Order: sequence, then C-alpha cells, then structure tokens
Amino acid sequence: DVLSTKGKSFEDFNLKRELLMGIFEAGFEKPSPIQEESIPMALAGRDILARAKNGTGKTASFVIPCLQLIKPKVNKIQALILVPTRELALQTSQVVRTLGKHLGLQCMVTTGGTSLRDDIVRLDDVVHVLVGTPGRILDLAARSVADLSACPLFVMDEADKMLSREFRRIIEQILSFFPEKRQSLLFSATFPLTVKSFMDSHLNKPYEINLMDELTLRGISQFYAFVEEKQKLHCLNTLFSKLQINQSIIFCNSTNRVELLAKKITDLGYSCYYSHAKMPQAARNKVFHEFRQGKVRNLVCSDLLTRGIDIQAVNVVINFDFPKTAETYLHRIGRSGRFGHLGLAINLLSWGDRYSLYKIEQELGTEIKPIPAVIDRGLY
Ligand code: ADP
Ligand code: MG
Repeated sequence: DVLSTKGKSFEDFNLKRELLMGIFEAGFEKPSPIQEESIPMALAGRDILARAKNGTGKTASFVIPCLQLIKPKVNKIQALILVPTRELALQTSQVVRTLGKHLGLQCMVTTGGTSLRDDIVRLDDVVHVLVGTPGRILDLAARSVADLSACPLFVMDEADKMLSREFRRIIEQILSFFPEKRQSLLFSATFPLTVKSFMDSHLNKPYEINLMDELTLRGISQFYAFVEEKQKLHCLNTLFSKLQINQSIIFCNSTNRVELLAKKITDLGYSCYYSHAKMPQAARNKVFHEFRQGKVRNLVCSDLLTRGIDIQAVNVVINFDFPKTAETYLHRIGRSGRFGHLGLAINLLSWGDRYSLYKIEQELGTEIKPIPAVIDRGLY
C-alpha cells in the first residue's frame, strides 16, 4: 500500500487543537508517509528538501507546519508559499483555508493576471499566509507592499519547476527580501541538479527526504498504442466508448492542437472543455473550476495544467501527443491515481515517438505496455 505509514497519528505532532480540528474535518485520518517524515522536522525548525510522488499529500506536509508555527496575533506575513502556476496557487490557498479553518488566520492568494491595485489594498489589511506565483510576489515585495522582512517561513512547491531558468532569478530576488534567519521548505516530485545547487547556496543544512524510489507511478497502469496521426481521433473515440471514464485529462503538445481536438471531441458528442496558456486567465479559471466540480467529463489541455493539480475524480489520462521528456510524462500521468486511487494512462504514439517511449521507460524505471484488447476494469 503506497500510503501505509509507521502508524503515527496527527495527534502525535503536538498540534494546536484548532489545527487538529481542521485536519480531521478535512477528512484526513492519519498522516501519509511524506507527512509523517516532514511535519516533525519542519516543526523542529529544520529546512527541508522533500521529494515524493504526485498525489501523496505534499501540500499538507508544508501547510500543517506553517499553520502550527504562525502566530495569529502577530499582524505580519509569516509564511510565503510560492507555486509555479495560478491554478495551483488557488488550490493551495484552498488547502490553507480548509486546514486552518479554526485558527483565525488570514490567507491571501495572488497571481499574475489579476489586479495589482486590489492586491495593494488587500495587503494593507492583515495577511498571515501569502500564496502566489513568483512574478507577482516579487512585484509586491519590490514595491514594499508585501513586507517579507520578518517572514520566518519560505515554502516552494514544485521546487524543480520554480528553479528552472525561467524563475530562478526571480526566486533569488524574492529571497533577498527575507530575513537571514528563515526556514525553507522545498517540495517536489523531481529534483534535478538545479535544485541541488540552489539548496547549497540558500538552505541551512536541509533535512532531505526522498520517498520517490518506492513510490514512482505505483497504482497507475500505463499503456501505449502506435497510431497514425490520421487515426488518432478514431482511436480516441474507441477509447471513449470502451473505457469507464470518470473524468479524463487529454494532453496535446501545442495550443493549436488543444483547441482543434477539443472541438472534434465535442463534435463526436462527448462533453469536453479545453485549457491552454494563451487563453485569458478568467476563462482558464472557469474551465478549471467547472472541471473540478465535475460539470464536464473531459478536459483537453497543454502542459500548463499538469503541475500539482489534484482532481481525485480523474481516473484516465490520455497522451494524445506523447511528451518529449520523462519529467513531463511523470507530471502528466500523475494527474490520475491521486492519493492511492488507481488510474489509467494511455499513450497514443506516432512512429517517431518510439525512442522517447524507450527513454522515458528507462529513466522512470517503469513499464508502459502495449494496450490490450480489453482493459481490466479493476485497474482503474
Ligand atoms: P501532492 O502535492 O503530493 O501531489 P496533494 O497535496 O495535492 O498531493 O494531495 C493529494 C490528495 O490527497 C488531496 O486531495 C488531499 O486532500 C489528500 N490528502 C492529503 N493528505 C491526506 C491525508 N493525510 N489523509 C487523507 N487524504 C489526504
Ligand atoms: Mg503538490
């Protein structure tokens, strides 16, 4: 069982009673392995670098210590949680609010694409936890609107993405507004070298947790089929009619293909939304919320949605276009099989993808099998 623990319970962490209430009301009965490892260390004040599979409860692993350590009576930002996408910022702030429901803390979420002026007004009021994407946070810190000079907690989710070339400079600038003495919590499913080098220069003797080896992609059955481009839609149609889809996410490699495919799926008579980075933020939010509420069964998207997004109802992920890297593959198919649920990943490959298939299998140490005529319902 991927989620079995050494038998610790949330009561063992000496948490505030109000926080325990929030945790139990959220339906969490006992800590997952990553929570069991990281919560006590974070509460002891250690920096943390933690790696664990998608869907194993990393969010609560950093949110619970933050909520425990923040002093509600102090009117300052006491935790900054940085995430790479707007959708993930909203989702993370939701977790903060749910678990912290009885603590009387104020959580603010801010991302690009929303009104800066509203943020400035909001920050005039009390904010204990600030959740956001790097660009906007830097903007607010640099204008001295968000005061981080006494903020003791710095959290980065999806740390590998946050330290990619696109963000690294921004992250370092944000850190320059923090006090020298601070606690950093970094979480991710993958840790490339960029994260190691960041760790060496900005973290203080971090406690490293790696629950990846034992957990990689367990619970997700992966299949592939070689399909000519012209036949892909037909193949998808067959999958739709044969599979018991609760909700599905279908990935394409480009924005154009996302829109085209979504239209074709709708023409076939299946309910389908799409989302990609070139859409206005309001439209993206609407799609995301309605998909999450189950108003529509299928979602076609590019890679923007893949990171950290947690929708338990998704039991099937289809790579209409096969991704180029193992990392992207891992993040995409990790959208199913959340928190111990089973999931199915189906890859439609063109002939040119055969080397990528081999490479990704090798790198992830996993097996992607040829699709059988009938997929056992017990697998997902
Ligand atoms: P990750 O960030 O590791 O991919 P998430 O933090 O998004 O995973 O959590 C995945 C799902 O598991 C969420 O729906 C969350 O509510 C649920 N979850 C997390 N911790 C627990 C727990 N201790 N007990 C039950 N459910 C949990
Ligand atoms: Mg996550």
